[in-house]
Amino acid sequence: MTWLRRLPHRWSISVRLALWYAATLLVLLGLFAAFSYVSFHMARHRDFDQHLIHETRQLMPFVQERAGVPVFVALDTLRSVAYQTDGIYGTYVRLLRPDGRVVYESPNFARHDSLPVRVQPVLDVQVYSHTWEGKPARTRYTPLFDEAGRLFGWLEVTGFEWSLHRELHHLGLVLGLGIVLSVLLAALGGYWLARRALQPVALLTATARQMGADNLAARLPVPGGVQDELTELAETFNDLLARLAASLERERRFTDNAAHELLTPLSALRSELEVALRRPRQAAYYREVLEEALRDVERMTETVRGLLHLARLERTDAHERARPTDLVERCQSRLKDWQARFEQAGLRFEAVLPAHAWVCVVPEYLDEVLDNLLSNACKYTPPGGRVRLEVHRLDGQIRLRVTDTGIGFDPAEAAHLFDRFYRGRSAEGRPGSGLGLAIVRAIVEACGGSVQAWSPGPGKGSTFEVYWPACPVPALSA
Ligand code: ADP
Repeated sequence: MTWLRRLPHRWSISVRLALWYAATLLVLLGLFAAFSYVSFHMARHRDFDQHLIHETRQLMPFVQERAGVPVFVALDTLRSVAYQTDGIYGTYVRLLRPDGRVVYESPNFARHDSLPVRVQPVLDVQVYSHTWEGKPARTRYTPLFDEAGRLFGWLEVTGFEWSLHRELHHLGLVLGLGIVLSVLLAALGGYWLARRALQPVALLTATARQMGADNLAARLPVPGGVQDELTELAETFNDLLARLAASLERERRFTDNAAHELLTPLSALRSELEVALRRPRQAAYYREVLEEALRDVERMTETVRGLLHLARLERTDAHERARPTDLVERCQSRLKDWQARFEQAGLRFEAVLPAHAWVCVVPEYLDEVLDNLLSNACKYTPPGGRVRLEVHRLDGQIRLRVTDTGIGFDPAEAAHLFDRFYRGRSAEGRPGSGLGLAIVRAIVEACGGSVQAWSPGPGKGSTFEVYWPACPVPALSA
């Protein structure tokens, strides 16, 4: 079978499968045919031996010993005439001395070549298959003993096994033809079946070939009904395509956003510098222009940093790095800093926290969410206002809420505040990149949470809420 393993790799799987199938069948049928042939052969020999035994039994009563030599007496009274008949129904009879010399030959020997004596010096019945005049024959030797138990000769009975060999020949022919036809049919059937079974693969290949980087939205057809290896292959491939498309979409969004958001401030910066360079100016003017340029560059740097951070967040698998974290502990560790910042901004700050609130998140991400929400509250609440930080343990969820009495927003804008570069109307004129809340949403959603914002209206304050699934209290901290 090693030749099968060496089948040229350019041959299609269908051809190789069909050949494997045919070869296996050839071996199995070959073994079966050989077994049948040998069994049949042996059975026919046994049948023929029965015939020889019968002939021997008929002859035995007519054999006698005369002067130490076997002779037939009154053989003419034997009803069977087989020993006189020639051809396939003839029985060729001889009497031999103990040393194998022939003392009697039946009349039907007359028309045949001499038959060599095969008897061996073993005092038992002996049977031999041989060819006599080119035809299959079988001879049976029966030892003849006198009353004292001494061997006085051998009775040799021979017959032609013509019919047996004709049948064997037919059987061989039928088996051989049957095997060849079966293997041929099996190879063709196997090829057809393999092609049929692999048709979905060909379809998948054709569809995949038509896809380019531009049409990653296309999906491979998933054969309905059964859930087999091919369905799994198509689904896995589609899954991969979906991830590739998402990644490509992220890259595109990043490039578009970066180009769009940077082009406007860059054009403004360029015209500022061009105006400044149009004619000689006072040193103070140059200084003012350069300071403005520096602010623009800082804003652009912040934008690019924010975009990169978002792109990385979408790429990394936060689930793998998430671990049980006490939200209350993270809040408390930052309270002092925030207290100072709010005081400096002329705001009143209060925090209402339970003892513990465990969530499964990346701890650094948690700090980022807190910082973003609190710095927005600080930025968008005029001096004299109030900011409140709360953590609640709900049924199976943990809620982080930041409420302020600041500029608020139009409730219709609530759904857009978490979009990239979205800046509320009431925030116009205030510095910002419009990426802070988009980063908050990306972080929260990456850890299985959700965000929402609401406000009664511009100037009436706002509330930002983050929900995470509550995580079981780790054994050590329980
Ligand atoms: P940025 O603050 O840089 O503009 P964000 O993504 O953090 O970007 O916020 C998006 C928009 O959401 C802001 O421009 C503002 O209109 C609105 N917003 C965020 N926080 C508050 C808040 N505490 N009060 C009122 N509006 C807010």
